[in-house]
Amino acid sequence: MEPIIVIGGGLAGCEAAWQIARRGGRVLIFEMKPKVYSSAHRSALLAELVCSNSLKSESLENASGILKEELLRLDSLILKVARETRVPAGDSLAVDRELFSKRITEILEGLEGVEIIREEVNAIPEDRITILAAGPLTSEALSSEIRKLTGAEHLFFYDAISPIITTESIDFSKTFRASRYGKGGDDYLNCPLDQEEYYRFVEALNQAEKIPLKDFEKRYLFEGCLPVEELADRGKDTLAFGPLRPVGLIDPKTKRQPFAVVQLRQENELATLFNLVGFQTRLKQGEQGRVFRMIPGLEKAEFVRWGSVHRNTFIDSPQILMPSLQLKDRPRLFFAGQITGVEGYMESTAMGLLAGINGFLYQAGKSPVVPPPGTAIGALVNHIIRSPVVPFQPMNINFGLFPPLEERVRGRKKNLLMGKRAWKELEEWKERSRI
Ligand SMILES: Cc1cc2nc3c(=O)[nH]c(=O)nc-3n(C[C@H](O)[C@H](O)[C@H](O)COP(=O)(O)OP(=O)(O)OC[C@H]3O[C@@H](n4cnc5c(N)ncnc54)[C@H](O)[C@@H]3O)c2cc1C
Repeated sequence: MEPIIVIGGGLAGCEAAWQIARRGGRVLIFEMKPKVYSSAHRSALLAELVCSNSLKSESLENASGILKEELLRLDSLILKVARETRVPAGDSLAVDRELFSKRITEILEGLEGVEIIREEVNAIPEDRITILAAGPLTSEALSSEIRKLTGAEHLFFYDAISPIITTESIDFSKTFRASRYGKGGDDYLNCPLDQEEYYRFVEALNQAEKIPLKDFEKRYLFEGCLPVEELADRGKDTLAFGPLRPVGLIDPKTKRQPFAVVQLRQENELATLFNLVGFQTRLKQGEQGRVFRMIPGLEKAEFVRWGSVHRNTFIDSPQILMPSLQLKDRPRLFFAGQITGVEGYMESTAMGLLAGINGFLYQAGKSPVVPPPGTAIGALVNHIIRSPVVPFQPMNINFGLFPPLEERVRGRKKNLLMGKRAWKELEEWKERSRI
């Protein structure tokens, strides 16, 4: 059998290669380091952690912990080595980054069936099974190859992300449903602000602490929509004429147009999540919580994703990818990792794991597998394939992505039950699909 090609020796590429090799397949990993480095990578080793050394919580009451447990049950190399190289960090799984990457590099270098070629890939092979896992900072030449395949409108280069909150944490008594001028039915949930509330909010935005821009991010920042605090800084009324404009919206309680309105838009099919429209931001996370909870109706908002603005190469998965992570127009090509529209180290690893399994099955002439939606991995796949949000936006794992439970429970109990359901569905799926 010809080796499967894996482009990118990051978290997803290494996991995909491992999953293929442990099933007896052969792999050629192409990694451009150390000849070429992205703006964030620094080490010649594979599976480099470009920023924090924390892989987040291991608690089984946490969506991130559930994802880890699933990866463990699917024999993930990245997770196994992370546990071997862990450093103390409470209930989080943090690693000695150097040891972690070194160990993964050594394991893959010594693994039968795996060959690592240190070259930049500038063209996507047409006739070979390929897993593209070149990450959020995919090289320019490869990005333009992807663009040729997907169409420019289906490849994004940066994220300007608005925060997302859970539906159950919104105080609906202070909000009203309506679309501007009644166009689009009751699609938006509106949080009305009076004049005093609005100016207090603008003042808080101006005072809040922001994350400074890295040099390589500066050229991406203003290509699309501006961060909300940037607009606030331009004048105290700018937001009221921009994303917070109230025109065409009448509050049924006062029968009047509010002074300003923050609009919330449904984020997922399950309607368990809402995003704050136009609230892409570089505010520090704690500051986002403090300032955005000043919005009427959001006083107790539970944030499942914080806003951000950063360089990120990712494809328009809902339009062009199959749930098996194969490109619809070219099933020999699989995408893996952050480039599929997931966000985070473990989420990228999970998409590497699935692409590896499916690449191997495809080569063996077997049907690809798709994890059930009640599992964390399945919930991530469901997000990237079925997200109704246009333009598509990446997401980290969170409970809002899981289907609701039949029982109406909240808090800790809900999280534990979701975890239990995830293991059950995962084990049944493993059994059924013999993976
Ligand atoms: C600056 C930054 C900071 C981040 N911080 C965090 C964080 O703290 N926590 C978190 O959970 N997530 C973070 N992320 C998001 C994400 O989880 C990581 O980027 C993660 O490493 C993605 O995994 P990946 O395997 O998809 O890509 P990567 O780990 O980036 O791997 C891609 C690999 O492909 C190689 N490559 C690229 N182009 C080519 C080519 N043409 N030919 C050959 N090789 C190529 C790269 O050199 C790299 O080794 C961050 C992202 C960025 C950009």
